[in-house]
Amino acid sequence: MTSPTPQDATAEALIAPPVDPETWCTPAQYGELYAASLRDPDGFWALQADRIDWSAKPTRINRSSFDPVDIRWYEDGELNLCFNCVDRHVFAGHGGDTALIWEGDTPGDVRSLTYDDLLREVQAMAGALKTLGAQKGDRVTIYMPMVLEGAIAMLACARIGAVHSVVFGGFSPEALAGRIEDCASRFIVTADAGMRGGKTVPLKANVDAALEQHGIDVEAVLVVRHTGSDVTMTEGRDHWYRDVAATVPATCPCEPMGAEDPLFILYTSGSTGKPKGVLHTTGGYAVWVATTFHYAFDYRPGEVYWCTADIGWVTGHSYSVYGPLLNRATSLLFEGVPNYPDHSRFWDMCERHGVNIFYTAPTAIRALMREGDAPVERHDLSALRLIGSVGEPINPEAWRWYHRVVGKGQTPVIDTWWQTETGGIMITTLPYAHAMRPGSAGLPFFGIDPELVDADGNILDGATEGNLCIAASWPGQARTVYGDHDRFVQTYFSTYKGKYFTGDGCKRDEDGYYRITGRVDDVINVSGHRMGTAEVESALVLHPRVAEAAVVGFPHDIKGQGIYCYVTLNVGEEADDALTAELKALVRKEIGPIATPDHLHFTPALPKTRSGKIMRRILRKIAENDVGALGDTSTLADPAVVDALIAGRRVV
Ligand code: ATP
Ligand code: MG
Repeated sequence: MTSPTPQDATAEALIAPPVDPETWCTPAQYGELYAASLRDPDGFWALQADRIDWSAKPTRINRSSFDPVDIRWYEDGELNLCFNCVDRHVFAGHGGDTALIWEGDTPGDVRSLTYDDLLREVQAMAGALKTLGAQKGDRVTIYMPMVLEGAIAMLACARIGAVHSVVFGGFSPEALAGRIEDCASRFIVTADAGMRGGKTVPLKANVDAALEQHGIDVEAVLVVRHTGSDVTMTEGRDHWYRDVAATVPATCPCEPMGAEDPLFILYTSGSTGKPKGVLHTTGGYAVWVATTFHYAFDYRPGEVYWCTADIGWVTGHSYSVYGPLLNRATSLLFEGVPNYPDHSRFWDMCERHGVNIFYTAPTAIRALMREGDAPVERHDLSALRLIGSVGEPINPEAWRWYHRVVGKGQTPVIDTWWQTETGGIMITTLPYAHAMRPGSAGLPFFGIDPELVDADGNILDGATEGNLCIAASWPGQARTVYGDHDRFVQTYFSTYKGKYFTGDGCKRDEDGYYRITGRVDDVINVSGHRMGTAEVESALVLHPRVAEAAVVGFPHDIKGQGIYCYVTLNVGEEADDALTAELKALVRKEIGPIATPDHLHFTPALPKTRSGKIMRRILRKIAENDVGALGDTSTLADPAVVDALIAGRRVV
């Protein structure tokens, strides 16, 4: 039997990048730099380290090993990340440049901070944390809406050497408590409440519930006044931020940090299981996000850059706060959601703020595509120069819509593959150096040597498909899982000895482009043919009536595994038998008869993590009819979606 060779069926033509003489990286420069970064990593990363001001310049560059697992970069260097993000720009005479622009849930509710303002605000927050007793090495949980003070609190922690753990403001008291306990955090920064899509999120009340229900004792809770909502303040424990800030000195010195001192803990999205408290350290992370931001977004002074991610996710850490500020960029932070007050919110904001660079997630792109072109076309997006995607595989259909309708067929699109554990972008095309291939993240970033291996760990050459590993360390790599180094070693380094295993499946084509096919756990094996869920999903969403699809395998007596497809239709569409037949035919045509769906389950919504990723492990359980053991569902955005799916499960 021949393989369905899905890589041929869904191969996409390359699209030439726009020419831009001002780019930081031409095709020739990429080739040279990439080769140099692999030939002499220490030399390359010593040079990139000059993006940072060090109080002691590192002489030892990379001292990492994957067996035993011990990752260290720039270990004799000393720096402060807050100084690098804020103070140094002020000292260099750029204090008047805009650092952060914030827009609230209500359109037009805008506040901005220059680098001068940011320096003042960060020192106030840092002073407040110190007054309450926070010291170098202490963990500080930041549970905030997407407001300026969230970013300020992160920078303030970096300033005093405290380790921040940002917990997304949409998480429940239960999930918050687990994360406070896991890292034994004794300080919490929160707000009275947040606003999302016109609804109030009672953050302070959630903190109270988390602490009370779990009997957690913390030293102090610092509360930022944001919505003016009523809150209960516990005497001796809870403090209004402005009251404390009013009592602290105007300046607060930067704590000198060793390059390997912890910077932050961040819990992964929980798509595949219990979230892991990923630990990043200071020096390598700083160099990595500064370098990746510079090249991937090709940022030019004066431009407005907008990453829509919340600071509760790693994208918000690396590309809303640290990466842009290290590059003295103007970064836009947004408290609200893409569909409030209507589906043109993103485009309205791009127009009003003159956004030049826009970075969002496939989940948002697909949701907005579902609404048609009109909400985009109502707005002037002529300032947009570059658009990006991150978080999940972007199916070619959504990619093309994003490029054609949002980017007017003119802007480069970067599809950036990376993980909480990688700290920053690992695989992407560079905007003016590389042709783009819809659905493929593209080429490895400097210093990254991706390897595709088979189940036994054999390295596969050329155009092929396998499990994505990274052969050698890079500066932004996570150092451990907080408090559980064994879990770190087990999860990432035990499947293939001596390699970092990403958990993702991947294809490499003739041009050396990498395309993520989904999580390895999600690969379906039908009658001996392995296929990635992303592939079948991409075929389904080609249908003009389909908005989104999620595909999982389920046990099948004859084929080993069958294909179960969850399908969401465009607004106003209804499922019928003709559509079912058309979708099956479409998959057969795009991939081959072997991929013909066994079940099509139409649903108004898919279960997603709070960061917007489809939770296929839950869909798998429902498809297997094993709904008694759904596993950790604490990171689910809307549990009601799961109940509806269970109720609506139908066997075709
Ligand atoms: P957990 O590790 O807890 O299961 P998670 O993997 O969803 O959660 P993140 O670190 O936020 O947590 O996500 C990283 C994963 O997201 C990658 O491993 C990959 O599966 C997916 N991903 C991110 N960006 C892309 C992209 N551009 N293309 C394809 N997949 C992507
Ligand atoms: Mg992961």
